Formats: sequence, C-alpha cells, structure tokens
Amino acid sequence: MTDTLDIKITKTTHSRLNETDFDNLPFGKTFSDHMFMADYSDGEWKNFQIIPYGEIGLSPAISALHYGQAFFEGLKAYKHADGQVSVFRPDKNAIRFNKSAGRLCMPELPEEIFIQSIAAVVDADRDWVPSKANHALYIRPFMFATDPYLGVTPSATYKYMVLIGPVGPYFSKTLRVKIETHYTRAAEGGFGYAKAAGNYGGSMLPARKAAEEGFDQLIWTDAKDHQYIEEMGAANVMFVLDGKLITPSTRDTILDGVTRDTVLTLAREWGMPVEERRVSVAEILEGAKNGKLQDAFGAGTAATIAPVGSISRDGEEYFLVDPKEREFSQKVLRELDAIKYGRVTDTHGWNYMV
Ligand SMILES: *Cc1c(COP(=O)(O)O)cnc(C)c1O
Repeated sequence: MTDTLDIKITKTTHSRLNETDFDNLPFGKTFSDHMFMADYSDGEWKNFQIIPYGEIGLSPAISALHYGQAFFEGLKAYKHADGQVSVFRPDKNAIRFNKSAGRLCMPELPEEIFIQSIAAVVDADRDWVPSKANHALYIRPFMFATDPYLGVTPSATYKYMVLIGPVGPYFSKTLRVKIETHYTRAAEGGFGYAKAAGNYGGSMLPARKAAEEGFDQLIWTDAKDHQYIEEMGAANVMFVLDGKLITPSTRDTILDGVTRDTVLTLAREWGMPVEERRVSVAEILEGAKNGKLQDAFGAGTAATIAPVGSISRDGEEYFLVDPKEREFSQKVLRELDAIKYGRVTDTHGWNYMV
C-alpha cells in the first residue's frame, strides 16, 4: 500500500520493543522504534524518510517556536484478533490536516502522502501495535515551520512528521466536569476548528485551575457570554436529552471530530433522533435537574467515549445517572470497539488495512 511514495527507510540497530512495559503505558510517553519525516521547500514535499525515533536538529529561530506555525493530528491503529492492523478513518484526518494547514498559512499535504506515510511507519513498527483490550497504537502526524527567521510571516520551509506509540485507556474513571464561565478556548473568527498547537497551550491554565478545584475536565462555552456549550477539554461533547442525541454544531470554534462524526453516523443508522445545533448550558443543567439528561460524554480519538459523572457550574454540582445504566454511550462504545478491532464487518469502509 506504500508503493507510490518513495520512502527511504533506515532501520534502527537497537529495537526498544522488548524493554517496553506494555502493561504500563501512560498516554503519549512511549514511542516506537521509528518515525516518519518529510521536508517542504521550493513549493513541494520531498525527502520522505523513515528513521529511528530520536532527536532532530533545528534552528532556535524557527517560526514554529516563536509564532506557533504548528499543528497536529491524532488517530489510532488497532490490532484485530487475526493479527491484522487497521487505522481508523485516516482519510478524515487527512482532510482536517489540510484545514488546519490552510488556517495557519502552511502548505497542504496531499491526502495520499498523509495516508501512505502513516501506513508505512505503522507497517515498519507493526509489532508495536498492542493486542490487549482497549489498547491501540496512537499516531501523531504534525507539521511545523522551519525557516530560521524572526519575522511574523509564513515560513517558506516546513517539516511533516509522524510519531507513533502504544497507548492504553486515556481516562479510567467517570469524569467530574466543570462548565468554564471565565476562560475561553476559541472565539468566532479564530482558529478553534484547527488542531493548532497554540489552542492547547492556551487551554492549560484553565485546565490546571479546574484540576486544583478537583475537576477532571472543563466544558468550554462560547467566548461571548458563556451561555452555549462548545467542547469538553480536547474532545467533542454529546448529550442524550429526552431520547435525542444532542451535540453542538461545528463552527469556527469547534474541532470537527472524527469520533463525533462516527457516533452521529451510527446513531442516525440506529434511528435515534440527532440534533446538531447550539446547545445551551441552561437546557443541559435543567435536564440534569429534572432527570431528562440521560447521558453525557466526551468523544475523541484519545478519550474514545468518556462518560461524564457530574457537571458543575459556579459551585453547584449536578449528578448524572450511573454510566453503567446509560443505554446510548454503552452501546456506541461497544459498537465502535467492535468495528475498530475488526469484530464486526466494517460496512462503512472505516478501517484502513495496513
Ligand atoms: C482532537 C480533538 C477532538 C476530537 O477529534 P477526534 O477526531 O474525534 O479525535 C475534539 N476537540 C478538540 C479540541 C480536539 O483537539
């Protein structure tokens, strides 16, 4: 599947596979033996290579470090019971990759290069794909500006890279979440819809403050008056209110999640009423009070389906139904896993086999 892209492969002489503890995989700390790298200059992508994972030399003046011309993607590869490996919906990430690039004045990467680079590095390190339940290989493609020039202007040169590493479950418990009514993640006209590095730097202080107050996650609200729900941490957020699946519609301020799209697609196929629209904080808290809020969860590649246990606003905490008793999120999580790990027929063509 990697025959059209000319990739120079340099294998490591010392694999770290045997010294890696697959029973203890904190998210994002373990990297496989190899990584993918390509360069952009003179208006084209070149030097496609797979090299041993490790440090790379860069000028300290690169624009990525000073002005944030940097963005990323996140997707996963799964091992099926028969040993086959698939990547989940990489075509969707390829499209979003280029949306992020466009917003940051960075070059697009052809979809074939995105998908083939991922397939090639996953293939090189396929023994790193965990076979344990709820485990996967996390894939982190990213692009950053490399001109050594301190001018606030788009760089002429860039690097595109892919790192991969085995991961276990991201959240291990039901989340206590806080509705953020002071800080904002993104504003109209901004770049919240891009997976731009800067969006995450700005989210750390509010997240840390929430953690100090005992919360696991934040629910971001609109920048104007904090009346409408946008996302939960770095995941999309969904609710089942009175039998309907409700989620904020995508816009400038919201990341168009692949998990979000996958969940909405399955719900519609199951005949569940789905509403993508503005979701007010008031209706969600009202639903939590009167019992019409039957389910609430974060949806994302890293988090998968992360159940919300309680929602707080301005010191008042509203408790939701025990996650084990929630019909929708349980069912959708089961189905998602069954598709990704190849336990049911992939009728949507979502699994890209490596
Ligand atoms: C990555 C991300 C998501 C989830 O997107 P997926 O494609 O489902 O992984 C949602 N919101 C934000 C802010 C994100 O960064």
